[in-house]
This record gives sequence, structure tokens and C-alpha cells, in this order.
Amino acid sequence: MGELLPVECGACGWTGRRKPGRAVWCPKCGSLAGFQVDLQDRDSDGLLVKAGDTISFSFGIPPRRVEGILFERDGQLIMPCEGVTPKEATLDMLRRHVGGFWKVDRLARDQYADDA
Ligand SMILES: [Zn+2]
Repeated sequence: MGELLPVECGACGWTGRRKPGRAVWCPKCGSLAGFQVDLQDRDSDGLLVKAGDTISFSFGIPPRRVEGILFERDGQLIMPCEGVTPKEATLDMLRRHVGGFWKVDRLARDQYADDA
């Protein structure tokens, strides 16, 4: 968390370091200096996750498992949370509210289609 990546403004040459996953506006000339598109994060085991990866978390008693395929919007990785509220969560929301998330190989519902 909090790793900064170098950015350079093509218009005036300003350089700085910013968090990945955000549009960066040049503080000197106001141009769009760059966009850190290599949006990656780490799951609760430290594995890299990015858009297109499947992640899973559990919550409640008894635990209820939710899975979703990450996608990117507005510079953030978002998990669609099918069947629960809210319908989408950022990774920070998952860390804060359900204690973390884990990358999984594939959707369990594809793996065990009969297990409802
Ligand atoms: Zn600039």
C-alpha cells in the first residue's frame, strides 16, 4: 500500500511521484501529466491482483462467500458483489469492512455448478 510511481508532465517537464491508479494533474501547468494505468493491488496473502482476476471474500455468521471478477473504473479496482449490498466494493472497502479478500483461480460456481 502507498507505493508511489514516477510521473512526468509532457507539457512542462514536471516530475513527481504519485499513487498508482489515478489520473495525475501537473501541479505546475495544470495539464494531465499522466495516468498510472498499471493498476495492481495485493490480496490479504500478498498476491498481486489486477483487473480480470477473480477474488473472493467471506462475511457474516455463518460465513457467506462472495466472489467477483475485478474490473477497473476511474482508476480504482472494483469488485462486483453479486447478491449482496453494496453491489460493488473497492478493495479498500473490503479490507475495512470484511477483513480482506483473496485471489482465487476461478469462480467456485463454475467449478461446482451443482453446489447451491
Ligand atoms: Zn506540467
